[in-house]
Amino acid sequence: MTDIAPYWQNYVDGAWVDGGAGRLTVEDPATGEPLAEQALADAADVDRAVTAARTLHLSGGWSGLRPVERGRMVQAMGRYLLDHQAEIARLLTLEQGKPLWEAEIEVAGAARYFEYYGNQAETVEGRQVPLGADYVDFTVMEPFGVSAQIIPWNYPLEMTARSLSAALATGNACVVKTPELTPLTNTWIARAAEAVGLPRGAVNVLCGLGSEAGAALSTHDHVNQIVFTGSVPTGIAIATAAAQNVVPCILELGGKSAAIVHDDADLDAFETDLRWGIYFNAGQVCSAMSRVIVHESRAEELVERAAGVARGLSVGPGIERPDYGANMGAMVSEPQRDRADAMVRQAETDGARLVTGGRKLNRPGAFLEPTVLAGVAGDMAIAQEEVFGPVLSVLSFRDEAEAIALANGTPYGLVAGVFTRDLDRATRAAAQLRAGQVFVNEWYAGGVETPFGGFGKSGYGREKGREALWNYVQTKNVAIRLG
Ligand code: NAP
Ligand code: MG
Repeated sequence: MTDIAPYWQNYVDGAWVDGGAGRLTVEDPATGEPLAEQALADAADVDRAVTAARTLHLSGGWSGLRPVERGRMVQAMGRYLLDHQAEIARLLTLEQGKPLWEAEIEVAGAARYFEYYGNQAETVEGRQVPLGADYVDFTVMEPFGVSAQIIPWNYPLEMTARSLSAALATGNACVVKTPELTPLTNTWIARAAEAVGLPRGAVNVLCGLGSEAGAALSTHDHVNQIVFTGSVPTGIAIATAAAQNVVPCILELGGKSAAIVHDDADLDAFETDLRWGIYFNAGQVCSAMSRVIVHESRAEELVERAAGVARGLSVGPGIERPDYGANMGAMVSEPQRDRADAMVRQAETDGARLVTGGRKLNRPGAFLEPTVLAGVAGDMAIAQEEVFGPVLSVLSFRDEAEAIALANGTPYGLVAGVFTRDLDRATRAAAQLRAGQVFVNEWYAGGVETPFGGFGKSGYGREKGREALWNYVQTKNVAIRLG
């Protein structure tokens, strides 16, 4: 038993409401036991939320504020989350499975987005275009209006913070559709909006099924812009809906990202990259280092080190893992765990060697052992498809050209890494890797400040950094003929 509230409502037009589709039971993936009930929105709830956002937008009550005022409120939302960090982290761990210290990092990461984009609100400026003595011409960066944001379950709080903070800072009104597996934590986003005094309709947060509320939101004809993070098939459905309504969307669709490890790489340091790159959040990270492509001369050593990292992790309920260290929690659900487990079995059938892990734990909950597969070939399913679990595939290469070809040899292109002491080699790789971010000698180097997004089937549009702001505004040109 936990002290979590038994029932959680949606937040629409500044009010806490039940859902037209009833209730959903949210489970704790570490035990398989019910955790709480969540109000489930239907299409009519979505319509009310979109109408609230649109009404606010048309009134100018949010978009018309002086940007510094919006920015201060956005920043205050982040501080509110930090003020409640311990409580939010506990809830996140219980519904999502990650260790408590990882959940604390997520809350801090979410707060950081509100700090960063709150700070930028008053930097979004147009320009003056010279047209000669008879005209004055300038551009205005206007918000789209209603921004629809469809959120995945792997980082529910941080993913919402990422899009919401930039959308609000630029003056949009938002409707957030939270994931059915992990809806509870996002209640705190609505609480933050309420606590800092955002006008009603600026932030609407509702949980509903993707096929019902998600589809209703992405096809709604008063939505002006869509942000989606999740799987490729759902991304295609959302881009199709956006095309029907002729509105822009941002798609962040995961990856099969590779680290190229050269013969001169520092493998001691690389153990840290392995630990974070594939076992953080039990590998349920869109930019996970799910493939390592290592020079054949170091392959055996690297596989041994990877197995050591994997075996060194203590796996069990995240709530019992409060401290940063060598531990890992449950995956988000048993179906996600079983899917990853089946992919490991298929990899063995296809000829990969299971070095360590690859088994479910003999206890309730969605646990999978940290796994290392060696001898993986570039055309195996395990090298092509996103596992979204704690499963590392190790491939080997003979020369630089082969390494790059393997790294680029999937439909995805989210991030990539190169590990070498040779600056020329690293620079060549950075130019040749088809990915939106390239890490040299540190996986996940960067931060909220650095633009992030995909090449290829990993999606389009950019989150994070200054670049993200331009997803939330449209340019208006004003040309004035002087008398
Ligand atoms: P998903 O179906 O893409 O779900 C992501 C979000 O989209 C959820 O809020 C989902 O709602 C919603 N959704 C589903 N169908 C929709 C529709 N027709 N219209 C509008 N919204 C819709 O992903 P998933 O089912 O959670 O996971 C499947 C796989 O996707 C994973 O194994 C993983 O490979 C990948 N994934 C990637 C990321 C990433 O960060 N790139 C994140 C999550 C998952 P529900 O919650 O109700 O399904
Ligand atoms: Mg789904």
